[in-house]
Amino acid sequence: EKVDQLLEVSNLSVFYGKLQAVNSVSFQIPKGKVFAIVGANGAGKTSLLRGIYGTAQYTGSLTFNKAAFTAKTNRFKSGIAHVPQGRAIFGDLTVKENLSIGVLGIKKKTNELEYLLNLFPILETRMNKQAGMLSGGEQQMLAIARAMMSRPSLLLLDEPGMGLSPKLRMEVYESIRRLLDQADHDMGILLCDQEIGYALRIADQMSVMQKGQFIWSGEAGSVSVDELSTKYMGLK
Ligand code: ATP
Repeated sequence: EKVDQLLEVSNLSVFYGKLQAVNSVSFQIPKGKVFAIVGANGAGKTSLLRGIYGTAQYTGSLTFNKAAFTAKTNRFKSGIAHVPQGRAIFGDLTVKENLSIGVLGIKKKTNELEYLLNLFPILETRMNKQAGMLSGGEQQMLAIARAMMSRPSLLLLDEPGMGLSPKLRMEVYESIRRLLDQADHDMGILLCDQEIGYALRIADQMSVMQKGQFIWSGEAGSVSVDELSTKYMGLK
């Protein structure tokens, strides 16, 4: 069976001057799937996302929807949305204003709002509130919803559960999975996380990252949290 690949990453390395944060990583994200990268603080996850998004210096090749990227390709206009660590919402603006920023610079007229509010009903009740007044979980949902406003084919999520209580974190993760399952187009998600447990619950495929390299890759359903953490993360 031929898999329809959304993103093909080949020998990606990411550099900060002389420091190499990602060392020749290769993987593919099929359409309709969640690909998770887990690894400890400093493993290189954020740098890998920056390389893909073109906001850090990188070498290697990136093919998105069968087209090769150059360093100058506008990722956002190509259909990639990036939700950086720490959410980066505009606290002084309302929820509604934050959401409308998500479609700036996008030519095609889409009406994602209804679908997104359906998925994150809490946001609907907060539309005119200052985003900075929302709880951490709500802010995370807002950041994801804003990224989804452009109707991306690929969503890059950097530790979406950071700073959230386990309950809120689970809620955010469940909504991420629903986002993909209910999208009316073939999108994919690349999710970075420090903890295996949450990522494993919603991922289809997973890689464990350590010191800039993948040390394990496989189907998320083929492995247990205990197995992975004991073997590769040294967490237990
Ligand atoms: P975290 O969970 O903290 O985000 P991470 O897995 O995302 O960790 P990176 O942030 O990608 O890891 O960091 C990988 C390596 O690159 C680390 O050694 C880090 O110190 C280094 N690094 C990250 N950002 C920069 C930067 N702007 N300049 C120089 N070195 C950096």
